[in-house]
Amino acid sequence: MTDVKAVIIGAGMGGLSAAIALKQLGIDVAVYEQVTENKPVGAAISVWSNGVKCLNHLGLEAQTAAIGGIVDSMSYVDAFTGGTMCRFGMQPLIDEVGQRPYPVARAELQLMLMNAFGYDDIQFGKKMVSVSDGPDAATVEFDDGTTDCADFVIGADGARSLTRDYVLGHEVTRRYAGYVNFNGLVDVDEEIGPATEWTTYVGDHKRVSVMPIAGNRFYFFFDVPMLQGKPYERGTAREVLAKEFADWAPGVHKLIAALDPATTNRVEILDLDPFDTWVAGRVALLGDAAHNTTPDIGQGGCSAMEDAVALQFSLRDHPDDVHAALAAYQAARTERARELVLRARKRCDVTHGKDPEKTAAWYDELRTEDGTNIIRGIVSNIVGGPLT
Ligand code: FAD
Repeated sequence: MTDVKAVIIGAGMGGLSAAIALKQLGIDVAVYEQVTENKPVGAAISVWSNGVKCLNHLGLEAQTAAIGGIVDSMSYVDAFTGGTMCRFGMQPLIDEVGQRPYPVARAELQLMLMNAFGYDDIQFGKKMVSVSDGPDAATVEFDDGTTDCADFVIGADGARSLTRDYVLGHEVTRRYAGYVNFNGLVDVDEEIGPATEWTTYVGDHKRVSVMPIAGNRFYFFFDVPMLQGKPYERGTAREVLAKEFADWAPGVHKLIAALDPATTNRVEILDLDPFDTWVAGRVALLGDAAHNTTPDIGQGGCSAMEDAVALQFSLRDHPDDVHAALAAYQAARTERARELVLRARKRCDVTHGKDPEKTAAWYDELRTEDGTNIIRGIVSNIVGGPLT
């Protein structure tokens, strides 16, 4: 597809995966990013097996494994006693889906994707201010007054997407999911959790988790249900968390003492009702712009990578017809993305006590769990994408 040009707005994990995928087809790809350097918001993410398969497909198998943490087991821990509610191995999941998941530092994932596309080819400091479709090309305009045209434009411009307003013809309001997530990185400490385990403390509708990433580090997060818009001064995470988790087990206090308040992120969690129109003419949405989910099943970024692979397959199958290719992409992705957004919302509600009786029942289930049900649930999230 040597005569085809694409513009991608946004150099997050979705836009960069798409850029690599389209470049593999021989498409001339221009990537525009509003920020001036690689500085992702958030410390790390869990790339589940479906996301890892997408990265492998993009030729990044060895690099992904090199930045990924090894998770050999999972456990749930009683918030207050510190007693293990359940613990089980990950191997049945790996055997079933044929790929190990990899928690990774966001900055390292971003850098890997940027280098795979070509770091110097990314046009940083370019904020798109408008997009429009035309009979022969789509056009984007930037805040410095410059423009670019292409056979098609991919809006991978994240949860607050401007491209989405254009594609839908109106703005949308995201929904506050009811909790705040604090996250960051600390050195592995076995008093918090075993080095190759994804450990989650639960109680009081809150959650504290650590999972290993490469370099002997834990990605940690705390989920705290609270009202939206509560004032917070950056750098005060330790005080806030010490208060919120005052009566929790010693491992949680160890984590609070170990975290660096200056680099701990605080994110209010929002999502968006799923919608089925991802394409308007030569303009299409990808990643969070198309499906903004709560992180409760760790699938937002993985879905963005799935979008990238599905877009590649659609263009490969319709090399001479951009409109048919984008229609095929939309058809391949909307239902899958809807399913994941709604599953994450449901999981979010149970974890964070929307109906306290359901949350109490979940805590009881965890005490009798041998891993079978949890693995089954995670596998059902993982399967169903373009690489199954
Ligand atoms: P983004 O990463 O948001 O990238 C969009 C890019 O577009 C940004 O770089 C932005 O600067 C740029 N941009 C925006 N507007 C413009 C413009 N007008 N012009 C130019 N550039 C623009 N997902 C998982 O798979 N696993 C997890 O474990 C996981 N954990 C998460 C934990 C938390 C707390 C949160 C909040 C999310 C989590 N996610 C997880 C979701 C994941 O972070 C997102 O789904 C993913 O970042 C989406 O990638 P994206 O490229 O679509 O958007």
